[in-house]
Amino acid sequence: MEPIRPVRKPRSKTFMNQPKTYYFDNNATTRVAPEVVEAMVPFLSEFWGNPSSAYFFGNQVSNHVEKAREEVAALINADPKEVIFTSCGTESNNSAIHSAIVTSGKRHVITTAVEHSANINYGEYLRKQGYQVTFLPVEPDGSLDLHLLQQSIRPDTAIVSVMLANNETGVVFPIQEIAAFCREKGVLCHTDAVQVPGKIKLDVKALGVDFLSLSAHKLHAPKGIGMLYVKRRTKYQPLVIGGHQERGKRGGTENVASIIGFGRAARLVMDHLEDENTRVRGLRDRLEKTVLSTIPNTYRNGGKESRLPNTTNMAFEFVEAEAVLLLLDQLGICASSGSACTTGSLDPSHVLTAMGLTPMRARGSVRFSLGIYNTDEDVDYLLKHLPPIIQKLRSISPLNPEHPDNDAYDIDAARVKHEQDLAEALSEKN
Ligand code: PLP
Repeated sequence: MEPIRPVRKPRSKTFMNQPKTYYFDNNATTRVAPEVVEAMVPFLSEFWGNPSSAYFFGNQVSNHVEKAREEVAALINADPKEVIFTSCGTESNNSAIHSAIVTSGKRHVITTAVEHSANINYGEYLRKQGYQVTFLPVEPDGSLDLHLLQQSIRPDTAIVSVMLANNETGVVFPIQEIAAFCREKGVLCHTDAVQVPGKIKLDVKALGVDFLSLSAHKLHAPKGIGMLYVKRRTKYQPLVIGGHQERGKRGGTENVASIIGFGRAARLVMDHLEDENTRVRGLRDRLEKTVLSTIPNTYRNGGKESRLPNTTNMAFEFVEAEAVLLLLDQLGICASSGSACTTGSLDPSHVLTAMGLTPMRARGSVRFSLGIYNTDEDVDYLLKHLPPIIQKLRSISPLNPEHPDNDAYDIDAARVKHEQDLAEALSEKN
């Protein structure tokens, strides 16, 4: 089956005239902040030297890279020497696990069934190489059974890798406790904190982990730059072997402009931590509460309390999430589902499946992840259009036992109106 593609046509061929987008997919990626772009530009124009070069033109670039390293280290309360720049969160996760198995010589890895594919697929790869990998199950609310985790640690366990917060549900895991078990048993502990910066205060010392991964594009910096924290005195074997960059821990000429952007973004999200936990949390809560109370047969996926302030994942019974997303997209609204169109069928999200959702609920689940640029007006717009879309889809859904005959909401008319509004907005701009 061909993957379903959005049908909304871009209104303009130029990037500058992008139509208004109502963006509720900040866990997928975030807008690069204007402050971040501004900080990066000189490193794409004037300061283009290689930071490894010994002369002043390279050396001054290296000084700025080190300044950015300090900024990123401050975000997680680490020493700058404990920060290795990588290409992305995926590389950081792979590197931590790779290093643990190589330096320890042990052949067992523990992770969870709800990790990002950066861990799930790396774990599957390791299995094929003859390693043993335990994917811990989760409870229906998305939480982990810590007793089971403790019991799963064996003498040949090299590393326990558990995410700090889940990208699909926002569920937060008790890494501090998990790291304490690991320390007791002499096992390394890694956490994938990619979804966390700017949402929860990060402190590697308080968490007590040996490794922690971040990815800059989740915090208003560009894609293609990540970071791995490696606690001082932890044995480390690089995954990317080459030049002596990153104190010999990651070969490859540094992605200078992006590193500078990462540093600036680290400061930005620290400044917005309060806003994310008050205003953004309020927007998320209003959205979730209104949807759950006004649309019948709708459920929150994941526990309510221990979760990120920006994320809500809701199951809409009797509809396919892909259809909801397609119709939202036609109105300029971006959200996501965790399903993957892989082997010709839309597989429900592995996270929601691991939480025990029925295939119907999992396939009808949509994630809305908000961010610092979302406004009350965005939420109003979404709340205006989402309920009738669900109602309309249910009215034609063979999955719906009631088949209500409902023509109250005209999806085509709403889309035409949106297109007209955009055209007007653009003509006013020009
Ligand atoms: N880990 C989590 C929890 C994520 O959400 C993501 C990206 O969505 C990654 C890892 C991978 O990060 P990157 O896209 O930088 O490889």
